[in-house]
Amino acid sequence: MSTIEDSDDRQPCPVCGESIKKSAKVCRHCGEKLTPKGESQGDSTGGLIPYKNPPALIAYYCGLFSLLACLIPIFLPLPVVAVVAGIKGLKKAKAEPQVKGQVHAWIGVIGGGLCGLVGLVTTVGIVIALLSKP
Ligand SMILES: [Zn+2]
Repeated sequence: MSTIEDSDDRQPCPVCGESIKKSAKVCRHCGEKLTPKGESQGDSTGGLIPYKNPPALIAYYCGLFSLLACLIPIFLPLPVVAVVAGIKGLKKAKAEPQVKGQVHAWIGVIGGGLCGLVGLVTTVGIVIALLSKP
């Protein structure tokens, strides 16, 4: 009956069912790693989306929507914004590593650069096609 007094502090291991401490990170009976509730969620979202590096986020979204500029010349300003914001985001990420967002910034620079070029070629092509028509 000695287990009753500290039962509030204990829970069954999800793998082997043995009674273990709620605060335990590893089950001492089977060695299974246990993640305490609410602790593992904060890191993953904070690392994936660089909230503290707005230029990198702007670059990322403009870089994605730059794909439109490949087909529709009206969207050509988007790749320009993506590249400019991407360079700003990279500088910010270098100066303050904790803000992250380097990957997002690079997607903006590369995506924006490529789509900008393709968009320009498409635009020039459309213009030449229109001019060459009788
Ligand atoms: Zn266990």
